[in-house]
Order: sequence, then structure tokens, then C-alpha cells
Amino acid sequence: MATTIYQATLAFAQALDQTDPLRKYRDQFHLPLQENGDPAIYLCGNSLGLQPKTTRAAIEQELLDWQTYGVEGHFHAERPWMPYHEFLTQAMAKVVGAKPIEVVVMNTLSVNLHLMMVSFYRPTATRHKILIEYDAFPSDKYAVASQLKFHGYDPADSLIELKARPGEVCLRMEDIEATIAKEGAEIALVMLGNTNYYTGQFFDMRQITEWGHAQGCVVGFDCAHGAGNVALNLHDSGADFAVWCTYKYLNSGPGSLGGCFVHERHAHNKDLPRFTGLWGHNKATRFGMRDGFDPIPGVEAWQLSNPPILSMAAILASLKIYDEVGIEQLVAKSRKLTGYLEYLIKELGFSAIEIITPESPSERGCQLSIQVKSADQNLYKKITAAGVIADWREPDVIRVAPVPLYNSYEEVYRFVKILKTEMDHD
Ligand SMILES: *Cc1c(COP(=O)(O)O)cnc(C)c1O
Repeated sequence: MATTIYQATLAFAQALDQTDPLRKYRDQFHLPLQENGDPAIYLCGNSLGLQPKTTRAAIEQELLDWQTYGVEGHFHAERPWMPYHEFLTQAMAKVVGAKPIEVVVMNTLSVNLHLMMVSFYRPTATRHKILIEYDAFPSDKYAVASQLKFHGYDPADSLIELKARPGEVCLRMEDIEATIAKEGAEIALVMLGNTNYYTGQFFDMRQITEWGHAQGCVVGFDCAHGAGNVALNLHDSGADFAVWCTYKYLNSGPGSLGGCFVHERHAHNKDLPRFTGLWGHNKATRFGMRDGFDPIPGVEAWQLSNPPILSMAAILASLKIYDEVGIEQLVAKSRKLTGYLEYLIKELGFSAIEIITPESPSERGCQLSIQVKSADQNLYKKITAAGVIADWREPDVIRVAPVPLYNSYEEVYRFVKILKTEMDHD
């Protein structure tokens, strides 16, 4: 937003809201309320996205069809349950920049990560290491460590962790490149978060994939904080696989199903080892019940079970909004909105505050991680009492994510005012 000259006034924030092409979408979500009945300033869409007002009707339709048809709903429901996951594929593929054959909604993130590693982490005596970020989300670290142990390797020897340089928080691309170049011959799998949950740093997946593939490594990404937040372009990234969840930026409800990507180049490889179940079998003969496993071409082959329709109904309702808006418009507003937040925080001029998220819009999504030196959780508690829903990470980081679909410039302005007031009193 080099051309935008921001101003730190309420009137300016309100003017930005008035000309915001996405302003009508805020009203399509349920905003959590404060005790006084006013909407809270919800900046936690990176943790749990808000409920679209259409979600309830979408779930109720499935309850009604179950009530009306019983088992026949598999074929006679308004949206038949048998192929239900297919109704999500097109829109989800658009959100993550992939081809429909590369995308499926199934299971939850950590489950999908394990299923992907069963197929794509194939260690040999000379190449058995996994590369991950030192500050990756704990679930991802547990998952890769357990896969190493499952194959008989000790994470102490076989897990390579990318650490930021001393005194720095974000990783430098040149350090990732150097590690892959140096250790690549022993790395079986490069598995990074594409948008770091803590710092908000967004990695160039295409570049990392190129480096990994040049060394003969398989490359996968956890896009939990990227899906619905940044333009992922998964197909063009060339990554072998990716996983993400739908309850953060994709607004599909607590614990909702995850998404999974397997690059087209693996779509017809029936020899890939994988854990299998009925739902991954050739649809034409799925209920023959006698045949040997015949995988569906593409990522659908990794499906195990017939899926929870109520959860998928919520995803369908949410994806409709994404389909309408498109990730380009979303990213355009996101950059302007987060840029405004960054500007306002810097305007405060507090030396104790440091934004640890990268400054470049191409290296972040909407989240800013604000480090408040020598603060403790008290500051966060006061901000919460003032009507802000954000997120605190020990020892001293407040994560805030203004979400372009439902957050306004005015909210961002009011949040920074509250931050100033509480810091002044601290
Ligand atoms: C949110 C998140 C998860 C959560 O995984 P679940 O299996 O849905 O509990 C995992 N990894 C990352 C990086 C996340 O941000």
C-alpha cells in the first residue's frame, strides 16, 4: 500500500470502511458480544474464525434430510451425502490455488499430516531426516517426531530444526536455502509451516520446494495459518503435499474437518504406499466389497471413512463466501487493513513494542504478532476486559489478526487506542 497515506484518526478509519469493497461481508457473520451487549473487537480469526450467518441453515438442511430420508439421504438429500465432499472441492481448490484433483476435505489436520507422511516420508539408510522449523506448532513437531520413531529413528539425530539467528525471531530464507543445500542429501522430507503460527511469517513455498526438490527431498507444507489468509498457489508451488484446517481463517466451526493437497504429479501413482479405507476406493466399485483396493485418482484416494456431513455443511456455507469474494480481493483488503494496524502501532511510538511479524506484505498474512517487552499477561487481561478478543503467547506476545472478511478499519483503530490506554496505565 505504498500509495496509501494513512492517518491515525477515527474519521480516517471510518472513511476507509466506507470505501471498502468488502464492507458488506461483516454483516454476514455473527460477531461475539461483550457483556454490555456491544460487539467485541474480534481479532482472533487466526485461532477460530467467526460463524457465517448461513451456517445454521446449511446444517439444519442436513438434519432435516436425515429426519426425512434416513439412510436414503445418501442419494435423496437435497445435497446427497454419498458425493457430499465433492461439493466442496471446487471452491476449496480455488481458495488454495490448486486443481480439483489435488484437493479434498477430510479428517483433521494432524490426521492428514500423518497420512501424508505415511506416503511421503519414506526414509532410507542414507536419507532419513526431516526438516522442520524449531518454533513449529507443537502438533506438527509431535507428528514428525513420532513418524521418525515409528520408522526406528531418533529425533535427536534425524530431526533438523531451523532456528532463527541469535537476536532474531523470523527465519531468513537464505538460512533455509543453506540448510537444505548442506544437509539435503540426508533429508527425506522438508515439512514446514507455510505461515508461522507464532510470528505470522509467510514463506515462499515455491522457492523452498525448488531447493528441496533440487536435493531430491520430498516437500510438504502445513498451511493451517495460510488457507483463507494468503494466496497459496499450491499447484504452482510444486509442493508434494499440504494440509490445513478449516476452523481458523476458513470459518467452518470448532474442530471442523481439514483440507489436504497432493500434487497432480502423484495423482495416478497407484504404487504409493498409503493407509487406506473404503472411501478412497474407486467409486464405481466401492460397494462391491470384494475387490482389492483400487485408489481413486488424485488425493481422494487418501480418504478413509465416509465423512461427517454436518461438519461439511458448515464448510460448504463458509466456502460460498470465499468463492464469491475470491482470494485476490481478500488479500488486497488484508494488506491494507493489516498495513493500517501496523501504521497505528508504530505511530504510538512505544519503545517497548516490537512487531515481530515481517514488514513486507509478501512475507505475511493478516496476523501481526506484537511483542511487548517486560509486559506480562496482565496487559493482555486488561485489553480483554476493554472488549478485545485477541491471543496471548508466553512470554510477551499478543497475536492479533484483523480478518478482511469481517473486521473493520474502525475496529483496528479502536484496538490500538485500547492498547495505548492500557500501556499508558501499566
Ligand atoms: C491450528 C494448527 C494445527 C491444529 O491441528 P489439528 O489437528 O486441527 O488440531 C496444527 N498445526 C498448525 C501449524 C496449526 O496452526
